[in-house]
Amino acid sequence: MGVKMSDSPDPAIRFIEGRSRILVSTHVNPDGDGIGAVLALKWALSQRGVDADIIIESEPPETLGFLANYQWVGRMSEEAGNVAPYDTVIVADAPHTERLGAVKSLISDNAEILIIDHHPTDQPEGTARYINESASSSCELVYNIITAMGLSPDKDCSEYLYTGIIVDTGRFRFSNTSHTVLRIASELVKAGADPNNITERLFYHNTIETTMALGRMINSIKLHLGGKMATACYSHEFVTSEEWKKVDTEGFVNHALAIRGVEVAALLREVKPGVTRASLRSKNDFDVNRLANTLGGGGHSKAAGCTIEEDLSTAIKKLVKAVKERL
Ligand code: 5GP
Ligand code: MN
Repeated sequence: MGVKMSDSPDPAIRFIEGRSRILVSTHVNPDGDGIGAVLALKWALSQRGVDADIIIESEPPETLGFLANYQWVGRMSEEAGNVAPYDTVIVADAPHTERLGAVKSLISDNAEILIIDHHPTDQPEGTARYINESASSSCELVYNIITAMGLSPDKDCSEYLYTGIIVDTGRFRFSNTSHTVLRIASELVKAGADPNNITERLFYHNTIETTMALGRMINSIKLHLGGKMATACYSHEFVTSEEWKKVDTEGFVNHALAIRGVEVAALLREVKPGVTRASLRSKNDFDVNRLANTLGGGGHSKAAGCTIEEDLSTAIKKLVKAVKERL
């Protein structure tokens, strides 16, 4: 990647010093890593007497509701447009403010912005950056900031960070599972994070609708390109149903990737008529970040996403064609 790594927490620590009012945010449709990172940042800032407001565009995911002080995660509301814009902003788990969705409108034009991220990117934003593509998660980076500040995470903060780490490493299975992140996880458990409770809340606490939707996804799987690619999909009708509101598809696409011989898996859902979201995963060397880039999306080499302005069947054809060109 063209960007020089900013692999030191020092700029982040300098950025925080002497601030009074900070907006902390993460990408739209946040996962455990983004949410864990913003909660841990707010905890750390409060230890330094700095007031931080966490505001995100999307509804905070219900599955993370077990995290302490979850009410800290504020959702962008209509009135939010009337508050004074923030001059100091921390963006976690995204390389630029575009990924914040509507929250971008709360940022003043000449705001100072700190980016904390582990996504590969050529053009990160920010007046200060702590970006490391080889970090497992943004929570790993926030852990480094917190300890470099001389703070020891308490039980709550350890649980925020541990949650982000297990979500982004796929419970310590993905290729980003380094000895460093295992050491950090060990420290977090020592500081009070409860692995069994967190795992149970994240992965053994599904709604019946989620489990039934998994069955539906698995039944929709189709193989392409001689078995190297698998697609699965949800129709527009299903994703606008009452049932869908109780469905969380986090991790589902991995069931398509788990098939022997499959190198690229995609889970597509037509979110609006003629607009299809795709979650992409890969194993071996196929780079889904680059694939997503060609379609206006992004992510990591093995986990990425994009929005295709087509109906479901056309989007699948487009995606299969794009994969074929890169295999
Ligand atoms: P997921 O498939 O779980 O929604 O996303 C996988 C990864 O790709 C996450 O790191 C997520 O932030 C990133 N991602 C998903 N969709 C997009 C997108 O449209 N643009 C960018 N830049 N990244 C995305
Ligand atoms: Mn992440």
